[in-house]
Amino acid sequence: MVARQSAWESAQIQLAEAVKHLGLDDGTHQLLATPRREMTVSIPLRRDDGHVEVLRGYRVQHNLSRGPAKGGIRYHPSTDIDEVRALAMWMTWKCALIGIPYGGAKGGVTIDPRLYSRNELERVTRRYASEIGPIVGPEKDIPAPDVGTDDQTMAWFMDTYSVNKGYTVTGVVTGKPVSVGGSQGRGGATSRGVMYSAFAALREARVDPREVSVAVQGFGKVGGLAAQYLHDAGCKVVAVSDVKGGAYNSMGLNPAAMLRAIRGAGMESVAGYPGTDPITNEELIELDVDILVPAALEGVIHDGNADAVKARFIVEGANGPTTPDADAILEARGAVVVPDILANSGGVAVSYFEWVQDLQAYWWTEDEVNDRLRAIMDKAYDEVSTLAREQGVSLRTAAQMIGVGRVAEAHRTRGLYP
Ligand code: NAD
Repeated sequence: MVARQSAWESAQIQLAEAVKHLGLDDGTHQLLATPRREMTVSIPLRRDDGHVEVLRGYRVQHNLSRGPAKGGIRYHPSTDIDEVRALAMWMTWKCALIGIPYGGAKGGVTIDPRLYSRNELERVTRRYASEIGPIVGPEKDIPAPDVGTDDQTMAWFMDTYSVNKGYTVTGVVTGKPVSVGGSQGRGGATSRGVMYSAFAALREARVDPREVSVAVQGFGKVGGLAAQYLHDAGCKVVAVSDVKGGAYNSMGLNPAAMLRAIRGAGMESVAGYPGTDPITNEELIELDVDILVPAALEGVIHDGNADAVKARFIVEGANGPTTPDADAILEARGAVVVPDILANSGGVAVSYFEWVQDLQAYWWTEDEVNDRLRAIMDKAYDEVSTLAREQGVSLRTAAQMIGVGRVAEAHRTRGLYP
C-alpha cells in the first residue's frame, strides 16, 4: 500500500503549488518552506500516584515576518514535530489570508489528555508553559487552544507565564475564560466562521441553506458548535462523531441537546446517543450529504476514500483534513472544498480581537466581536473566490496564493538580514 500523505508533506505540496502560481524564486520558496524556530522540550510530570514520567512538547514558529507568531497548543497522543510544523505553516498562511498582523506558530504535547487527571494536566501545562516561556509573549508568540486543550488550559498557561514575569500578562495567550481577559465570542468563533464560509459557498452555488443536509466529523470545540449553528440556521445535521464513533439520524439531530448531554450530563461520546443509529468515522466521511464538515484531525480525506466522498461541499473545520491527492480527486468531480485556512480562520480572527482587547485593556461587546468577525470572513471569502475564478484554480490554491503571496511580499519589503 502506498503511504498516505502526512500533514507536513501536504503542507509542503500546497506551498509548492502556490509558489508555482505566484512565480516565486527558489530562495523565497526555501525560506517559506522552512520553520524559523523550533523548540523541543521535555516535561517531567509527577503523576498523582507519585511516580514521575517524562513527556515531550514542542513549539514551532514557522514565520514572523508579518508580526508575532500565533497558533494553538495541541494535546494528542500522535502529535509529533512534523505535525506541529505543518500546523504552524498553515497558521502563517491563515493569518496573512485574513489580514491580521501575525506570523504562524503551533505547539503540542504528545499526550492523551483523557488518561490524565485535571491536576496532572495542570502540572503538564504549567511545566510546558515554563519551558517554552522564553520564546512566547504578547509581542513574540501567542498560543491558543487546539485539539485536547481549552480555555482552562489557557488560564493555567497565562497564570504560569505571569507568575514567572512577576505581573499579569493577559495577552500572552488567547482563548482564555472571559473572567481573566478572554474575549466575548471567542468560544464559538471558529464554528461561527465555519458556518459563514459554508453559507458563502452555498450562496455562490445558489443553494438554500434550509435545504441542505450536513455531516460533522469531530464533536469538539469546533465541530460541536458548528453543528449547532448550522442546525439553528436551518440546515439538517444528520450525523456527528467523535473519537469513539458517531451518531446518525436521517431525519436530523439536535446538536444543542447532544452538546448538553456531552458537556453537562457527562456523556462520554455522541456514539449511542438516544434516537440515533451508530456510524463509524469512516462511514460518516462517505455519507450522502450536501455538506461535510471534517472538524477533527488531519488527513481523514485521502486517496483511499476521496472517490467515495459524496458531499458537494467540504467545509474544513479541521486543519489539513484533505490531502493533496484527495483534493485532486474531489476537484475532478466538481466538489467545492472550502479550505481550512479560510473556513476555520474565525478562531484566530477573534483571538486577534482578544489580544487587541488585552493590550488595550478595553472590552468589546459580543455583537461588536461577531460583526467584526463576519466582516473579516466575508472579505476573505470574496478575495479567495474572486482569485479562484480569475485564475481558474481551486479555492485552496487561491487561498494559499493570497496567504503565501502576502508573506513573500513582507519578506521582499523587509529585505534579508544581514
Ligand atoms: P477538540 O479537542 O475540542 O475536539 C476534537 C474532536 O475530534 C473531539 O470530538 C474528538 O473526540 C474528535 N477526535 C479526535 N480524534 C479523532 C479521530 N481519530 N477520529 C475522529 N474524531 C476524533 O479540538 P478542536 O479545537 O475542536 O479542533 C478540531 C480541529 O479544528 C483541529 O484540526 C484543530 O486544529 C482545528 N481548529 C481549531 C480551532 C479552535 O479554535 N479550537 C481553530 C481552527 C482550527
